[in-house]
Amino acid sequence: MMGPSHALSGAAGWLAGSLVLQNVAHLHQTPAQLAIGTVMCAGGALLPDMDMSGRVTSNKGGATVAHTFGVISLFVAECVEKISLGIYQLTRGPHDPDRENGHRTFTHTLPFNVAVGAGTFELCLHYGKTAVLSVLFFTFAMALRGMFEKWAQRAGWLVVTLTAAMATFLAYERLPAGRGYPILGLALGVGGLIHILGDMLTRHGCPVLWPFTVGRGRRWRCVGVPDAVAVKVGGKVEVYLLRTAFWLVSLVAASRLLYEPVLHRLNIKV
Ligand SMILES: [Zn+2]
Repeated sequence: MMGPSHALSGAAGWLAGSLVLQNVAHLHQTPAQLAIGTVMCAGGALLPDMDMSGRVTSNKGGATVAHTFGVISLFVAECVEKISLGIYQLTRGPHDPDRENGHRTFTHTLPFNVAVGAGTFELCLHYGKTAVLSVLFFTFAMALRGMFEKWAQRAGWLVVTLTAAMATFLAYERLPAGRGYPILGLALGVGGLIHILGDMLTRHGCPVLWPFTVGRGRRWRCVGVPDAVAVKVGGKVEVYLLRTAFWLVSLVAASRLLYEPVLHRLNIKV
């Protein structure tokens, strides 16, 4: 799937999950925590595509997320793609095919995305303010790229970076001291897992069974829905149907979650 679809699916997934947790486990979040978690999950849902290299010298190619910080992030994407390809070559089974590109390999596995979530969780727990600010800043910048792609393209990476810095400051002010931070790691990790689910709807699928060897010595077998119902990347089903569905889920879940806090703030009793 393309960047904006991934970002939207992350936002929809986080809001829908929060609604379920509120109803089932009575886990209530403040509107600010909810907003921060949603943006973090949207940003996290873009991260796995940092393995798509482009042309750094001409600032072209690469996934949406690779353009977050201009040529700098495009260069990072180049490195991530090469490292992913290296991991593929080192761990491939005897029947895994030859590859020349690392896209949809290591960053599209379950261990990678769980590690990103757990690593961020630990980082925020042990390094406090500096880690929290850095995590918020990088993820907000990615989320802005994904959710407002056309605006971000027009505005350029410098405006996106400054907007992300401002949003980071506002978000940090609203996160409770001493707690509320683990949610950052959780949202980032969940976003990555939602990305994998999204890519599994396409013809190529994702290597979700890695590092286990399954059938005829293949460790990097890509798993996804059958070809007959697979979604074409950037096709009409993805752009119109899936994105509309993600918007609807987000709006319904957000209105259900924010209904009571907003009424309470306005001092309206129901
Ligand atoms: Zn992907």
